[in-house]
Amino acid sequence: ANNIASPTALISNNLNFIQSGAAAAERIFEFLDREEEPEDSGTAVLDVANTEGRIEFNHVEFGYLPDRTLFHDVSLKAEPGEVLAVVGPSGAGKTTLVNLLMRFYEINQGDILLEGLNVKNMTRNNLRSAFGMVLQDTWLFDGTIAENIAYGKSGATREDVISAAKKAQCDEFIRKLPLGYETHIGGDFTTLSEGECQLLAIARTIIADPKVLILDEATSSVDTRTEILITQAMETMMKGRTTFIIAHRLFTIKNADKIIFMMAGDIKEVGSHAELMKLGGLYANLYLSASDN
Ligand code: ATP
Repeated sequence: ANNIASPTALISNNLNFIQSGAAAAERIFEFLDREEEPEDSGTAVLDVANTEGRIEFNHVEFGYLPDRTLFHDVSLKAEPGEVLAVVGPSGAGKTTLVNLLMRFYEINQGDILLEGLNVKNMTRNNLRSAFGMVLQDTWLFDGTIAENIAYGKSGATREDVISAAKKAQCDEFIRKLPLGYETHIGGDFTTLSEGECQLLAIARTIIADPKVLILDEATSSVDTRTEILITQAMETMMKGRTTFIIAHRLFTIKNADKIIFMMAGDIKEVGSHAELMKLGGLYANLYLSASDN
């Protein structure tokens, strides 16, 4: 992630950057495991059940290190239910954008608002309970398939599990297994394909019913049929939720409501595929050179 591509390198390497960003998931998990977060002092309470997923970044300044500003002046709006594809070369700040939204780091200047509330005034638990994440390295634990899906919601019933599995297009393959939902996975029992694991992760997120989704799009190659299932499951999952996708596939990027094109900690361009093509800037160049191949 230290390798910030120059605009020329970006354009000539085109698809390379769309496919880069592999380690983002691992990094998000590092943060989840961090225990040394400062104490919460805020008093604002987000009514998670009635949250629509409206998000605003207003003039955000941030750097991981005191003397190295990464985001100089980042502003951004996401309306409820919008799909935002975050694209840009390695090191552009795509992961940082979602890390700040979930408040894994404190910003220096500006505000980040969820549903009009400043995220720094909420407790981290309250804030993060509005989010669901599907990351590249799907994380399954040593247990049954049913347990792995149910993990998304405390007190989930068998009906909840099956309904989520159906929406995530995995009920069919689960039923074909000799032990069905009781099949043991994780640990040494990894019998599922990568694509199937991704579908389970989607089912787990659907059962949790988060208002805002963070997706780190998988770049691994799965067969065409699984790819279609994953696309359908993702579409069902994203319906009615504001979604940030660290996107690598042109299909996803083209279909997003907004493409956020980042480079070196700045948002360079924002708009739909059609709008950015019309603009004829960095995204359009990238897209045209990618589709020439
Ligand atoms: P990639 O596509 O490679 O995942 P990215 O666009 O997601 O890249 P970020 O991970 O947001 O980029 O990183 C932006 C910049 O911040 C990079 O220069 C990176 O090296 C730096 N950075 C990221 N995490 C940290 C950290 N924990 N401490 C210091 N610098 C960091």
